[in-house]
Amino acid sequence: MASAKQDAPPQLAPPPPKPETQPQQVAAAAAASSSASAAGPPELEFDGTSFESANLASAKLVSLQPCEYDLQIRPDTLNSRHRVWFYFSVKGARAGQKVVFNILGYSKTKSLFRDGMAPVVCTSARPYWERMPPQSVFYYRSPRHNKDYVLSFPFCFERADETYYFAYCFPYTYSYLQRFLLALEHKALPCLHRELLCRSIQERRLDLLTISSPANLALDAAIRAGHAVGSPPAPEGAPPGTGPVAPRRVVLVSARVHPGESPASFMMHGLILFLTSEHARARELREHVILKVVPMLNPDGVFLGNYRCNSCGLDLNRLWHASMPGMAPTIHAVRELARQYTAHAAHAAARGGTPAAALEMILDMHAHSTCMNGFIFANLPEDLREMDSVTAFPRCLANQAKDFSSAGCKFDRDESKAGTGRRALSEMLPGVHCYTLEVSMFCAAQGNVRGEAYQPASYTQMGHAIGLALHECYCTAKGVVLGAPALGGHAAAQHDASSAAIAATATTALSGAATTAPAEAAATTAAPTVHGTAATSAFAASAFAASASTTASAGVGSAGVGSATRAAYFPARAARPMAGGTHSAPMVRGGSAWVGAGRVGGTGSAYSSVRCASRLSNA
Ligand SMILES: [Zn+2]
Repeated sequence: MASAKQDAPPQLAPPPPKPETQPQQVAAAAAASSSASAAGPPELEFDGTSFESANLASAKLVSLQPCEYDLQIRPDTLNSRHRVWFYFSVKGARAGQKVVFNILGYSKTKSLFRDGMAPVVCTSARPYWERMPPQSVFYYRSPRHNKDYVLSFPFCFERADETYYFAYCFPYTYSYLQRFLLALEHKALPCLHRELLCRSIQERRLDLLTISSPANLALDAAIRAGHAVGSPPAPEGAPPGTGPVAPRRVVLVSARVHPGESPASFMMHGLILFLTSEHARARELREHVILKVVPMLNPDGVFLGNYRCNSCGLDLNRLWHASMPGMAPTIHAVRELARQYTAHAAHAAARGGTPAAALEMILDMHAHSTCMNGFIFANLPEDLREMDSVTAFPRCLANQAKDFSSAGCKFDRDESKAGTGRRALSEMLPGVHCYTLEVSMFCAAQGNVRGEAYQPASYTQMGHAIGLALHECYCTAKGVVLGAPALGGHAAAQHDASSAAIAATATTALSGAATTAPAEAAATTAAPTVHGTAATSAFAASAFAASASTTASAGVGSAGVGSATRAAYFPARAARPMAGGTHSAPMVRGGSAWVGAGRVGGTGSAYSSVRCASRLSNA
């Protein structure tokens, strides 16, 4: 579980959004095609188009005994290379009807489905997403499908009058974000300013939130308006006589450039809740830092149910190096936003002064489909003396989130990643630390020991931890020096012993790596965290073995689905109890918040005989 090691979150996670209608596509929506058969139960009715973020191209009944459907993932809009995200509904089943679903068309061969990840399910009567039990989920090369990778899982429909929804991971839709932001806006918080940064190609909002103290919000507005702005006022609570006030730090956080990576939105949700809360550290952070938050960089792709691309079939996270206001307006708008701070800095320098605010960090949130834990991709600096500040934020996050993996962090100059926000923006904005933050679609793991599968609340907890890490980085002596100190220099000079030790180890290892030719470095460093010409920080070195054993751990059901194992899909009701392992507690309503409950008995088995979901309490 991603959780902060200290302090409760200001608000617990919301329920995942209910599936919602996509009005523009209702007319075009049609139940996916199926080949009818005169015998047996009536065919199921599939819908993979008529609601937001839905994705299913077709459904075909291929067997009656057992009842089995082949379901085809729809490729991304105008880009057939990307086929991973699926999200569809099923209705028309009889109570107790058992069905095997085969999901076809994956564009990736590696998948956490091989390691025990399971799809998520909810129903119209119980709109709370749950992961299915991993014991009955199989990801394998199917002889019947040209040896392509297929995801197969059985399901028993408990009720006839419900619509059932299945998805690759917990959906977080564009409309859900809009409702969340509107509710925040209605609170009229003095620390929050919401604006429309631009419209997407399909005219959806690219929202920009600015979160800081009221004085900083005014300062930021003046800077972006191009006004000449002098030194910022001393932060509230600053001791007198702390010397000249340094520029306000500006941190830009974004998410969901890849629409199929919905956990990034839950992290962003948790971060926004923390940043706008009355948590003491959030208040202190707002005094020192101006946070620019872009919650959904690819609103069209999210709406359309794509995995990586926007409505033009473009992977926006390969276009940050080019200004394409027509084809990638949201990326262009964020680039221009960043430029406003560099222009301000240049203007201040031309006058012989210092800027009132300086962009220092860009953090782009993603979710990873093949790795465990949370981890960061960062740029390996040309000058290794900068490693201290490059590793500062990852180290603070490792302090705050227990399943953030230092071992999983990667520091590189990989040419193949040119065009990503991390690479392109760091070249466009020298001195700005640019990170890609990843969180697993599945769970955390240390060695062979896996944590429970992530739930939406786990991801929002990670967002909370990111807020605490930003506080540690910018407001405490534990944070390593990032640019100029916030309060005239007294705080930044005091690294604690552990931070200094990590930084020293990192620098030593990098010095060695940098003296090795790129090819040699790749060959002589067996660690899985070394990529291309990259060197890997010793920040991660101690856990290479654990990381390797994680990736080598046996997957669930990797042997595939044959006729013999198919019989095991439908065991007696009591034969497949909800065991521990990777399935975590159900979500139940508790007052106005949503909390993870213990694994409770109760009377309502949601998805009965194969136990395709955990029981829900009566609460
Ligand atoms: Zn991504």
